[in-house]
Amino acid sequence: MTPFIAKLVWWAGITGWYAIRYPHQRRSRKTPIAWRVEPTRDGILLAISFAGLFILPVTYVTAGEPRLADYPFHPLLAWFGAVVFAAALIGFYLAHHDLGRFWSVTLEIRQTHRLVTTGVYRHVRHPMYAAFFLWAVAQALLLPNWIAGPAGLVGFGILFGLRVGREEQMMEATFGDAYRAYAARTWRVVPGLF
Ligand code: SAH
Repeated sequence: MTPFIAKLVWWAGITGWYAIRYPHQRRSRKTPIAWRVEPTRDGILLAISFAGLFILPVTYVTAGEPRLADYPFHPLLAWFGAVVFAAALIGFYLAHHDLGRFWSVTLEIRQTHRLVTTGVYRHVRHPMYAAFFLWAVAQALLLPNWIAGPAGLVGFGILFGLRVGREEQMMEATFGDAYRAYAARTWRVVPGLF
């Protein structure tokens, strides 16, 4: 593994992610929305996450900036990053597959919304966020730069930290006892840990 190949792996990961998301994005636009939770606040959080997972790393991968924050490349770390990115894409695919048309970029409830508790959702309540965390870890392992590398963890960490409580409140307000029971028997992101 060379620094150049590590950058290509990052691009491949981003492309794979988009290929998985695209059909769901198209389909979800056609499913009418019943309720949106604080769209402006949510939009700002999404922009922060986008900056960390895409804008900063793409600047590094294309222009090599910020050079000042570079550190020596370790092939082994980058190999590990490639494996973690592949795991992120598998998790991402499964979460999209199981959530189907109830997926949304911002916090919203669809008119025909049902609570999904099967597939990967049987084990954790936020498998898609788990996949984003894996992506962010992969980015840190693939890009030997103290800013572009960890930016995804910081950006997505902010989105997750400030969103997940509101999302669960929204789900509880919509599905009541069914969601409370579901939350009582599942973990948020990592079974047995959190
Ligand atoms: N937090 C989840 C889903 C991310 S997409 C995950 O990480 O996998 C965000 C949207 O998914 C929310 O607006 C909500 O409407 C919907 N959602 C989240 N959990 C759900 C569930 N168990 N069943 C149905 N819809 C869900």
